[in-house]
Amino acid sequence: METLEQPSDSLETRILTVETRHLSKSYGQFQAVQDISLEIEPGAIYGFIGPNGAGKTTTMRILATLLEPSQGEAWVCGLNINDRRVDNLVALRACIGYMPDFIGIYDKMTCYEYLEFFAAAYYIDSKRRTGLIKDLLQLVDLTDKKDTYIEGLSRGMTQRLALARTLIHDPKLLILDEPASGLDPRSRVELRELLKELSRMGKTIIISSHILTELTEMCSHVGIIERGALLTSGKVSEILGKLNRHLRVIKLLVRPVKPEKVSLLQTILSSGPGVKAARPLENNDQAPNQSEWELLVEGNETELQALLRYLVEKNIPLFSFSEQPTNLEEIFLQVTRGYVS
Ligand code: ATP
Repeated sequence: METLEQPSDSLETRILTVETRHLSKSYGQFQAVQDISLEIEPGAIYGFIGPNGAGKTTTMRILATLLEPSQGEAWVCGLNINDRRVDNLVALRACIGYMPDFIGIYDKMTCYEYLEFFAAAYYIDSKRRTGLIKDLLQLVDLTDKKDTYIEGLSRGMTQRLALARTLIHDPKLLILDEPASGLDPRSRVELRELLKELSRMGKTIIISSHILTELTEMCSHVGIIERGALLTSGKVSEILGKLNRHLRVIKLLVRPVKPEKVSLLQTILSSGPGVKAARPLENNDQAPNQSEWELLVEGNETELQALLRYLVEKNIPLFSFSEQPTNLEEIFLQVTRGYVS
């Protein structure tokens, strides 16, 4: 399908790495992705966040040219993904490194053979391959596993090998679908460091996850998707700015009340000045003499002071009152509750 439309800044010097306009995808009657318009700048680490079934994989597969959209358009590195002519697809795929959520890996190959296979698939000159594979294995810290069969790798090593494969043709854009799933905490940290390194090397990265804390530290930009619709997209710092004007999260530590009094306490807390919602958090077995509550409060410092006065006046048995730092998890909760757009 050819279109005459061009990406909005095609006349400017800076080309967005990804731009989508009104992108939609239906599977039969079911609309998996609805009217997604987003922009991703060169060099961004873009966290694509949403619960299971939100439409992350579908969107990423469209951007990777593996699925065609039902409606709308997208450009990757200035190339229109709806132009399915072979030359255009070849040029697009040269720009894109896609790592799917389930990796087809060939157990009976060594790491070196695996990467060589893909180097050949990308027509990388055989004289260049040895050096390239050596560099990639070094980058993903698998040099000493060069001759190990893939079936002998841990999950974290397998993910790193898959990432090396994704990098083999030196793509500008990496599309990584839940690369950290199934990794232990240490392997997650290692993966995060590796992605930061790739970002420093000039790659633009889209990374999906439903584990928000995983992305908090790493992403410069974020897009939140739920039931196929993009709820918000942009710089993490800008979304945080919008957020702070709206709502704050306050954690309270109080003396536990009898089970029959919990709902009364909830009513009192919910009625405080500026309080939009109050909910008990799970009991901490380490501190049976304290119970934790989360309040969503609208307002500035003055309102917070008024809230604290209110809690004292109501004789709430308070141990502590603290504002929580806002992170991606909070953005996600606020956006999906409709407080931020
Ligand atoms: P997860 O985090 O679980 O991987 P996701 O956000 O990546 O989820 P998608 O895999 O894009 O979500 O799926 C979005 C919706 O589209 C889901 O409801 C899914 O069941 C549906 N879906 C995906 N692929 C197909 C298909 N080939 N045929 C029919 N429905 C599909």
